[in-house]
Amino acid sequence: MTTDTLDIKITKTAHSRLAETDFDNLPFGKVFSDHMLVADYADGEWKNFEIVPYGPIAMSPAISALHYGQAFFEGIKAYKHEDGTVSIFRPDKNAIRFNKSAERLCMPTIPEDVFVQSIAALVDLDREWIPAKENHAMYIRPFMFATDPYLGVTPSATYKYVVLVGPVGPYFSKPLRVKIETHYTRAAEGGMGYAKAAGNYAASMLPGRKAAEEGFDQLIWTDAKEHKYVEEMGAANAMFLLDGKLVTAEAKDTILDGVTRDTVIALAKDWGIDVEERKLSVAELAEGAKNGKLTDAFGAGTAATIAPVASFVVDGEEYFLSDPASREFSNKIFKTMDAIKYGRGEDTHGWNYIV
Ligand SMILES: *Cc1c(COP(=O)(O)O)cnc(C)c1O
Repeated sequence: MTTDTLDIKITKTAHSRLAETDFDNLPFGKVFSDHMLVADYADGEWKNFEIVPYGPIAMSPAISALHYGQAFFEGIKAYKHEDGTVSIFRPDKNAIRFNKSAERLCMPTIPEDVFVQSIAALVDLDREWIPAKENHAMYIRPFMFATDPYLGVTPSATYKYVVLVGPVGPYFSKPLRVKIETHYTRAAEGGMGYAKAAGNYAASMLPGRKAAEEGFDQLIWTDAKEHKYVEEMGAANAMFLLDGKLVTAEAKDTILDGVTRDTVIALAKDWGIDVEERKLSVAELAEGAKNGKLTDAFGAGTAATIAPVASFVVDGEEYFLSDPASREFSNKIFKTMDAIKYGRGEDTHGWNYIV
């Protein structure tokens, strides 16, 4: 199956909700466009690629996605440039990761070009839904789930692939007060932390809620074995500027290999900044905060973009970092990425997929 043969049947909505949507009030993930893309996997192949009006999907209550979590997702964004051009940021990277998640969960892969084409077709049809506004974008949520109506704990033989899209504004509105999590674990070696598996996010909710009750905006996960090394920040990669070097956890099996993370690393290298993908201990972070060598700290992800850390708490002690507004590196990264995404800066790496 290649791009040339991907045949998508399109059924347009009779009642667009575009005119009645409040684009000045876009809470993340609550507003969906007029259409969605659906496809089925059965008899060993993907079929029935269709764009239909956004709405409920009929399914058996016995599907294994609901019982055993055979489900995963992706997160991508599309942007509107000043001249009206629409681009999707690095969807080829998401296609590769989509298939990594699929393989980890015993689910079928989708040819990378089919994945990208299917998303582009939906974005194209609903392009009027992309806000033409700074810090705004169209969030793209591809996902797959098992659909066999069978309660046995075994991989399903049938699946549904769905893509939803919707307009979004900024995700975090202020610099974050972060808890270093040393009790709960997001991902262990040999587990599925590198996959965007639905169950990973279910497991993160209780620790997230407890952190919120303790007055934190976000938490930083540490390694499952010793709770000594920094792994990720919520559902974003944790990145630091320590002694002038960009430091982040190595993308191994407990780390989600973020597209934003990869983008930040590529830009840092362009600018001649040393990049270290390595174990970073909480002690080293605390030391860096004390002696002033930790000059930047942020979460990096498609939804959150660049989310600056204002302070972090280790064993009851709070470490305050410099004012996020005055940080050179993360502000330059944010501006440079935005310039590329919105078509104002030169896309030297070829990251924009023009729709
Ligand atoms: C999605 C996600 C990220 C960020 O990945 P991007 O490709 O940059 O959006 C990082 N960590 C986790 C756990 C995630 O789910």
